[in-house]
Amino acid sequence: MARQSAGHRRGRSALLGLGLLALTPFLAAQAQPVAAGKLAQVRILATGGTIAGVGTANSASYRSGNLTVAELIASLPGVETIASISAEQIANVGSANIDEAIWRKLLARVLAADADPDVSGIVITHGTDTMEETAFFLSLLVPASKPVVVVGAMRPATAVAADGPQNMLDAVRVAIAPAARGRGAMVVINDTIFAPLSVTKVDVHAMQAFAAPARGPIGHVLTPVPVFYSAATPRAPAFNLESAALPKVAIVHAYAGLRGDDVRAAAQGARGVIIAGVGAGNFSRNAGEAVKELTARGIPVVRTPRQGIGDIWRDDAVAGVGGEDALGTIAGRELTPAKARILLMLALQTPRSRGELQAIFDSLGTTSP
Ligand code: ASP
Repeated sequence: MARQSAGHRRGRSALLGLGLLALTPFLAAQAQPVAAGKLAQVRILATGGTIAGVGTANSASYRSGNLTVAELIASLPGVETIASISAEQIANVGSANIDEAIWRKLLARVLAADADPDVSGIVITHGTDTMEETAFFLSLLVPASKPVVVVGAMRPATAVAADGPQNMLDAVRVAIAPAARGRGAMVVINDTIFAPLSVTKVDVHAMQAFAAPARGPIGHVLTPVPVFYSAATPRAPAFNLESAALPKVAIVHAYAGLRGDDVRAAAQGARGVIIAGVGAGNFSRNAGEAVKELTARGIPVVRTPRQGIGDIWRDDAVAGVGGEDALGTIAGRELTPAKARILLMLALQTPRSRGELQAIFDSLGTTSP
């Protein structure tokens, strides 16, 4: 069956967006089945974001993380004919506030749902600002067996043409799709399915806010049954959360003539540093001196691009500053600075040599050899 036109879909969402505010919240913090039957069960874990945002008429302003998961589910027309839904409110925040504590709580509930034989797939509602980070974090810690679909929206639930209900329905469809099994964490937004490694937010306002610039999407949800463009490659989680608190990893944003002192200041108290470098992960000679001081002290420094797009591989002459070996740095491969931070935090739970860390970035920071 062909999907409705975008205009038609938006009109429908608008009506629902207005109607859902009158609904009474009906779910508690713990998972509760809200629809029984033989349909596949989807566990929805809500964390907030614009998808749960509420604004006022004639204003672009709204508050992220407002509606409850029950209210979000009530805005999904016909969801009860697609899947049996159970839900939990993990948090209700703008996603700039998603921190390690929320990640740990979310991970625990994802793993519980993953282990529950009654649950077919998991949907996580999330703010778009950091949903690529949460998806990447989960992709490293959750078995790539059941689908774990992170979904957001660019417009608040009260917008005339809210995109949240459509995106959530799409996420539920992906969560129960046979072709989605074996893939683990994914991002679904604006009809499109992305892999955590390659997805990034490329526009702060537009509906087409997400892209995987180097690799493209892994599928689309333009029909009731999502389409994937390649076979799933199931794999075991790369890491466990072994430490009570993840080691601190700082990010330094480079600019023309990056000052060495900026690098030293950011590295205070950090177990690792990510440089969001200019161009292909480059930085100034002054910054290079500071980087050498850090790596000589055993603090790993990973080079990434501040644009967040492109493969940073081992370089024998980092923009004339010195080769990777002279600097003692690690090439961050295809990871954005924020995702490189996540990978380094997880990797540094165990003491590891520079060579071991580079091997981790080579295997988990890209799917290319
Ligand atoms: N500021 C919002 C957030 O990330 C943006 C969004 O959800 O689209 O929570």
